[in-house]
Amino acid sequence: MTKHLISSADLSRAEVEDILETAASMHDLQRREVKKVPTLRGRTVINFFFEDSTRTRSSFEIAGKWMSADTINLSAKGSSTSKGESLRDTAMTVDAMAVDALVIRHNASGACQQVAQWVRCSVINAGDGTHEHPTQALLDAYTLRTRLGDLDGKHVVIVGDLTHSRVFRSNVITLKTLGARVTVVAPPTLMPSGIGAWSAADGFATSWDLDPVLDGEGEHGPVDAVMMLRVQRERMSGGYFPTAREYTVGYGLTRDRLERLVARNDDVLVLHPGPMNRGLEIAPEAADAPQSVVLDQVSAGVAVRMAVLYHLLAGDDTPAPVPPVTATEGAVR
Ligand code: ASP
Repeated sequence: MTKHLISSADLSRAEVEDILETAASMHDLQRREVKKVPTLRGRTVINFFFEDSTRTRSSFEIAGKWMSADTINLSAKGSSTSKGESLRDTAMTVDAMAVDALVIRHNASGACQQVAQWVRCSVINAGDGTHEHPTQALLDAYTLRTRLGDLDGKHVVIVGDLTHSRVFRSNVITLKTLGARVTVVAPPTLMPSGIGAWSAADGFATSWDLDPVLDGEGEHGPVDAVMMLRVQRERMSGGYFPTAREYTVGYGLTRDRLERLVARNDDVLVLHPGPMNRGLEIAPEAADAPQSVVLDQVSAGVAVRMAVLYHLLAGDDTPAPVPPVTATEGAVR
């Protein structure tokens, strides 16, 4: 595997499958009473978040801690970034402390790629601007595979604010890597420019019209999973849709749409990377429906990030990621 994880495109199908397999054993660990393994003892992981985060930051921290790495959290506020230090100087300063990995979230697309050129340690992209979020795509693939099995030929529909979504970009890449069929749906104003060429090259479908796609009348037919994306108001400078109500009517997963989906396929899955705008892109009835795997995604986030840290940082002499359960420890759930 490569030294860094910057883009989902860095991973071949075999590497994605390897990570997801390791994540499955990490997930078993989450069910034990004692969750710590010595796998990354002596390694140091810095989580540097220049943008807000709940799920990604805490799951990277937990992942590092459960594998006995020393983990330290830094944010823009409270670090020398707030005094005007450049990204390059900050990255090189942290690297000079001989850390092993830098997990970075940054509001600039391409920031992680830049940092990787300046430092000696591994760099993991935890979300860079509107560009990519590869570990989110891995945890989504993990969640989908747990419920649907092999993703070859499965149809995943991604709906919402595509223009501002790094989750969508990484998901399309990883889902296509795993052989899934993908349709992306957005209002014309939130459909990224240049998507025509990308979709033609990578073989995914695009649509401005949600209902026919959910009804299985799109190019890829019946739907196995729907991933709703957050409307990212903090990245919007102008009016991308007339009113919140009109967005919901056109592109929200409303109670009505969920009922129609479930009537066609009781096992359909509903995903959302969080944080959710309840009542805007997803109705509470859909967020909390039996078909919703939103909290499974969160749970998978820890296991997948453990697996990524393991694959990037563990040396050849590192023991198996999760040693067998000892008699005294036992499985608790
Ligand atoms: N949490 C995800 C991200 O950081 C999705 C979102 O914020 O809408 O990209």
